Amino acid sequence: MNYDPSNIFAKILRGEIPCKKLYEDEYALAFPDINPQAPTHILVIPKGPYVSYDDFIGSAADDEIIGFHRALAKVINQANIAATGYRLIANAGVDAHQEVPHYHVHVIGGRDLGAMLGK
Ligand code: AMP
Repeated sequence: MNYDPSNIFAKILRGEIPCKKLYEDEYALAFPDINPQAPTHILVIPKGPYVSYDDFIGSAADDEIIGFHRALAKVINQANIAATGYRLIANAGVDAHQEVPHYHVHVIGGRDLGAMLGK
């Protein structure tokens, strides 16, 4: 799948659409999900143009991959959910109901998250 630069997260990265920045560095941006599924629901996105996890890992440079994951850990610690627990979700493609075609990780926590998958 080719990257579509008109997606909403690309617009956020370009500053065309506002977001509440929770964390930002050279590799990643984190902001609250507009439709939170739990008390903590943060989206962490890489700065580069990647559609999905497999695209990111397959195409990004090593420093981008390491930098993104270090940023993800900082967001988790900053949200104070490391001790109580959290779930990371990266939806990709049709079966996972990916809505926004810019790779993102949902950081979800702040309550008992129940079973891993719905039906
Ligand atoms: P996914 O199904 O993994 O692609 O999820 C996309 C997520 O982006 C959904 O949870 C939406 O609520 C969220 N979302 C869409 N637009 C925005 C926005 N402008 N700011 C924050 N979150 C958004």
